[in-house]
Amino acid sequence: MSDAHRAMWERLNLDLTAHDGLLEVLGKFYGDIYMSQENRLKGMEYMDFVLSEVHGLRIKEIQDAKAQGHKVVGTFCVFVPEELTLAAGALQVGLCAGAEAGSDLAEALVPRNTCALIKSFIGFKLARLCPYLESCDLVVGETTCDGKKKAYEAFADLAPLHVMEVPQTKSLAARDLWYEEVMRYMAVLEDLTGVTITAERLRAAIKIVNDRRRVLQRLSALRAADPAPISGRDALLINQISFYDDPQRFTTKIGELCDELEARVAAGQGVAPAGTPRVLVSGCPMAVPNWKLPYVIESSGAVIVGEESCIGSRNTRDLVDESGESVEDMIEALVDRYMKIDCACFTPNEERQENVAEMAKTLKVDGVINYSLMFCQPYAHEAMKMEKSLEGKVPTLSLETDYSMEDVEQLKTRIEAFVEMVS
Ligand code: SF4
Ligand code: SF4
Repeated sequence: MSDAHRAMWERLNLDLTAHDGLLEVLGKFYGDIYMSQENRLKGMEYMDFVLSEVHGLRIKEIQDAKAQGHKVVGTFCVFVPEELTLAAGALQVGLCAGAEAGSDLAEALVPRNTCALIKSFIGFKLARLCPYLESCDLVVGETTCDGKKKAYEAFADLAPLHVMEVPQTKSLAARDLWYEEVMRYMAVLEDLTGVTITAERLRAAIKIVNDRRRVLQRLSALRAADPAPISGRDALLINQISFYDDPQRFTTKIGELCDELEARVAAGQGVAPAGTPRVLVSGCPMAVPNWKLPYVIESSGAVIVGEESCIGSRNTRDLVDESGESVEDMIEALVDRYMKIDCACFTPNEERQENVAEMAKTLKVDGVINYSLMFCQPYAHEAMKMEKSLEGKVPTLSLETDYSMEDVEQLKTRIEAFVEMVS
């Protein structure tokens, strides 16, 4: 990394020694898991480049935008309506929370038996490791699971924070609550940026975010082909990068990659031979650089053809209706779209089981792997329901893990047995 990058990190008050260590581990991990793949698409070079510059050029772009007066909003959940953030002239970045670094520090603020994702975002802040977090003018939390809700109480002392109240049911009263929360977020953004969200600004923002969803839907649909034209690892990386790359540039690049994929599908080419067992991974989000499970699955003779996750289909399945004329119409459309999210924090949440069954059918999967982060109650509960609802339709395997590497061998043993069973 250049001296200019180091000077930028210093200005952001990162712990440079710890940050160097993180980049070194990340680089090695990426090399082992990503660069070792064969038959990769040419379009993945852009992703490799973005990842190699994840703390460099992209942070520089963000700093340049800030210098021009734009604000930066960080989020941890797909419930935060990016359309409003963009309409207010701010940049939105998904804060990753996918590494173990700093988790020991986090245990001073949250209980040990808290999921790895929560410990990671607290730990990254305490250890001064994340240039995205340090660039944020506002972090937006949400009252989803209990772990997050309580963690934001501690996080409020560490960063400027706004917490959105996400309802727990899909009742009409819950929709009214969510509508009020969306309006409250709009007011917070207007106050932060000094920008009034007009119909024109909101319409343009809805289009930008929908376009990104559309191109990711296109990518997802192409994965129904056998042989699978792209690895699950690469598809996950694309979804992860969608949270912090410039949305319009990202959409263009993934459009090009989909063109390449289409040609591959037409030529009957893939990353693994036709007939390779096809797996759908379903459950908790996998934030950068949480690539452990996909790596183990794809090193065990299977190929991942879908991610039913917030870093996957849960974030891209539903579009916002673009027909609204006024800000009011568009807010209603946003509220409706976000109320469709089938996060396990909702009760009941039958639609998630239906969505997984539908994905399993469309993507012609041989097995579903339910993935829960250790100590994540909502997804662990739903893994049990999912096993029952898919019984007789598609074999399932439920796994609980975290960000450590200690259980890799144990995971491999279970996954290899599962892959053999579904082969
Ligand atoms: S799993 Fe639920 S709480 Fe987590 S990011 Fe997704 S919607 Fe938000
Ligand atoms: S993984 Fe589970 S426990 Fe962790 S933040 Fe998400 S919903 Fe909450």
